[in-house]
Amino acid sequence: MIVIVSELGQKLLPKLVFSIVRRAYIDIVLSCARFRRWAKSFYYLGTSVECPFCGGHFRKFLPTGVLEREFWSSPEAQQLLAEEFVTVCNLQCPRCGSSERHRLAFFYLQDNLRMKENQGARLLDVAPDAFVTKALFQTANIDYVSIDLVRSNADYLMDITDLQFDDDSFDVIVCYHVLEHIKEDRQAMGELYRVLKPGGWAILQVPIWARETYEDDSVPREKFLKHYGHKDHVRTYGLDFKERLQSSGFQVNLDQYVRMLPEEVVNKFGLLLQEDIFRCEKPVA
Ligand SMILES: [Zn+2]
Repeated sequence: MIVIVSELGQKLLPKLVFSIVRRAYIDIVLSCARFRRWAKSFYYLGTSVECPFCGGHFRKFLPTGVLEREFWSSPEAQQLLAEEFVTVCNLQCPRCGSSERHRLAFFYLQDNLRMKENQGARLLDVAPDAFVTKALFQTANIDYVSIDLVRSNADYLMDITDLQFDDDSFDVIVCYHVLEHIKEDRQAMGELYRVLKPGGWAILQVPIWARETYEDDSVPREKFLKHYGHKDHVRTYGLDFKERLQSSGFQVNLDQYVRMLPEEVVNKFGLLLQEDIFRCEKPVA
C-alpha cells in the first residue's frame, strides 16, 4: 500500500513537492518509532535486567518475534527448541533493541580486546553492527576496519567472498551473523582465512537452528522464511558448522564463555547460556 501511494505521489506531484512530502513522512514514521520505543522502555522500567548498550534497567527483556514464525511451529521444530545447542535470540532490550547476540559480542570482545596481546590489533569487522561498533570498537585501542556489501556505515563496500585485502592482513576478525546470508559461504570462509594473520583469531558466529546444516538450491527466495526461518537466510546451520569452518583451514575451538560467567550476570544481561563462541584461529606455519 505504502509503495503504491509513493509511486502515485511520484507521478502526480512536482519533484520538489514529492521530496518534501516524502521527507516529512519519513520523519513522522521515525518519530512514531522513537516514541513507541521510549514509551515501551518507560513501561518496562525495573531492576531485574540491564542493557550494557543503552544502560537501561528493566523488569524484563522482550520477545523478538522470531519464535512466532511458521518455521518454528512444527512439532519437530518445537522439539529442536528443547535442544541445548539451538541458539534463538528472543530477549530484546525495550529501549535500544539489542538482543542476546549483541550483548554476548559486547562482553566477549570487551574482555578479549582488553588483553595485552590484543592492544593495537588490526581488526576487520564484517557487516558492522551499530550496537557493538559504537559501544566498543570506537573506544578500544585497535586499528579498526569495517566492510559491508551495501551499508554505507562501513569503511569499505566489499563482497565477503572477494575481499580486497592482502593475505595475512588482520590480527582479529569479527563476523557476526553474516554467513547464513551468504550463498557461497565456503568461499567467504576461505577469504576470511586468507586475510587473517597466522596466529590471529576470528569469531564467526551464526544462528544454530538445526542438528545438521540444511540448504536446498531449489528453494526460491520467497520461501526462505518458511524453509530457513528468516527471509534473508540462505540455509539453516547445524552443529556441523564447525566442520565447515575447519575445512576452510581454521582451527576451531568452541569457547563456552557464557557458561563460565556467574549465573546472576547471565540473567541480568539477558545472555544465551548455550551460545558458544566459534573461535577460529589460523595456525602459525
Ligand atoms: Zn538497550
